[in-house]
Amino acid sequence: MRIFDPHIHMTSRTTDDYEAMYAAGVRALVEPAFWLGQPRTSPASFFDYFDSLLGWEPFRAAQHGIAHHCTIALNPKEANDPRCTPVLDALPRYLVKDSVVAVGEIGYDSMTPAEDTALAAQLQLASDHGLPALVHTPHRDKAAGLKRTLDVLRESDLPPDRVVLDHLNETTVGDATDSGCWLGFSIYPDTKMDPERMVRILRVHGTERVLVNSAADWGRSDPLKTLHVGEAMIAAGFSDDDVDQVLWRNPVAFYGQSGRLSLDIADPGALHEGNSILRGGE
Ligand SMILES: [Zn+2]
Repeated sequence: MRIFDPHIHMTSRTTDDYEAMYAAGVRALVEPAFWLGQPRTSPASFFDYFDSLLGWEPFRAAQHGIAHHCTIALNPKEANDPRCTPVLDALPRYLVKDSVVAVGEIGYDSMTPAEDTALAAQLQLASDHGLPALVHTPHRDKAAGLKRTLDVLRESDLPPDRVVLDHLNETTVGDATDSGCWLGFSIYPDTKMDPERMVRILRVHGTERVLVNSAADWGRSDPLKTLHVGEAMIAAGFSDDDVDQVLWRNPVAFYGQSGRLSLDIADPGALHEGNSILRGGE
């Protein structure tokens, strides 16, 4: 099984995770820019984070045989903090970088006017840069959040086939399918979607335009949830080709729209800007 995790926050994961992911068949991933769990207090804090998503983290992933790309954005939660919103003006210089394959995560958290502004501005940036967009749907009040998201999308210049709506579940998959967007599902250990529920959705909606991710971060999560979905699909009678479509070809097709996906892992060498993953620089 070859696996592309289209949404995982490796910055908050360990080397053991990278090794386990490689052993499970993960050969590529996309790390979306998001919230750190505590508020950032200035744009400079974002810039160091973005630089890490563009430099150190791809270097670390390559040490473990995994191709790393990222998405860059001001996340919905911090779109409400006036200390952070100047980041919007700096995004264009990051969105031209080779390994940035989408604008994201954008979308709604609490559905405030500040989030409206940031979402519309960043959909425009995606359109201007020829990039797809990774749109997070809210974890609370999901149906209303999706409806408002789709209203803003319809007013934007970005066509629906360049958008993935993420964190979907049984209550939102119907409207998301009708929108023409790609469908993203985050599989968590004990809340929201699990592999069996994912398989039931695949039975009803098919495997077209579906992306399955672990969304693993600093919270309770599991970077092998993509593998578990593949195993549950096989157990439920899906073919190896169906699994390959969902876990590999669909994310390649979606992020490939950026024209920047590069799945060959060049030998990263032992040093990144003079630093190695070995403490003490062996
Ligand atoms: Zn995320």
